[in-house]
Order: sequence, then C-alpha cells, then structure tokens
Amino acid sequence: MTKNWPADWNDLIQGIGCEMCDSARPESDAYGVRIFRSPNVDAVLQRANIQRGYTLVIWRGRHITEPYELSGEESSEYWRSVMQVAKALTRYYQPLKMNYETLGNTVPHLHTHLVPRYVVDPAPGRPFPLLPQDGSEPQIPDDELLTQARALRTELLPNLAI
Ligand SMILES: [Zn+2]
Repeated sequence: MTKNWPADWNDLIQGIGCEMCDSARPESDAYGVRIFRSPNVDAVLQRANIQRGYTLVIWRGRHITEPYELSGEESSEYWRSVMQVAKALTRYYQPLKMNYETLGNTVPHLHTHLVPRYVVDPAPGRPFPLLPQDGSEPQIPDDELLTQARALRTELLPNLAI
C-alpha cells in the first residue's frame, strides 16, 4: 500500500489549518494532560497507552515547521523546556533511555515526542514504533493519568510555574 503525505501539506507547512496553532492550550484535551507550561512551550502527558510516560512537547509561539526557524532566544526556550521535561520524566519513570523524536511528518508544526524506553519495550535497541494517533489507541484511565501528571508537575515546579 502506498502511503501519502497529508493532502493539505502545502497549507499545513504554512500553518493554514494547523491544529497546534489553533489550540487554546487547554490544561487537558483528548490527547492528554498538560504537565508543563512556559510562555511559548507546553508539555502534554499523552492519554494514549502507547508507552509509560509518553509526552509531547509543543512549541506554542508562531507557526514553525523546522526548529532552525526559531530565533536564538526561542530556540533556548524550546530546547531548555524539552530538557527539563525529559529530566523530570526520567526521574519519575526511571527508564533505561529517553528518546527525543522531532518529526512533524503528519503535523508539520514544531513538537518533540519524548518516549521513555524500558527493559520491557516493543523494540529494544531500535527506534520506537510510533504511529500517528487516530483515536483508536487504548487510553490510560483518567485517575492514573492525573496521578502521574501531578507527580510530574511537582518535579517540574522548581523550574517554572504551571
Ligand atoms: Zn502551527
């Protein structure tokens, strides 16, 4: 089967119809619960039960497709946030390794997938088999997700207020 790029790709890379630009930055949505917020960055612990601790860090400033489009100051804010969240996830979930995936092949707006990797893992020693979410993924129960989110916010509090 041939796989295609999104049909509206030319619009999406310009930010037209971009769901990440359109977001009102809610504390919680269908994708997950926010655990970190800085002026231009959110981190959202994902509801999809794909991998324990799977979190998306999302650039919330103007529409950016490639990280090199960020100014020096924006770049500092973005990557510093990615590092802070990755460190908090590592302290809390104790993975063997943290993975950082800045892809943007289905939603070409700057974001980074933080995927902790464990002893028991779907692809040890290899890239995580991450697929675009279509809503059919098993979900982490709300109370469990909120317990983890609260603990992670506490880990992140010394860095920035949420
Ligand atoms: Zn966008």
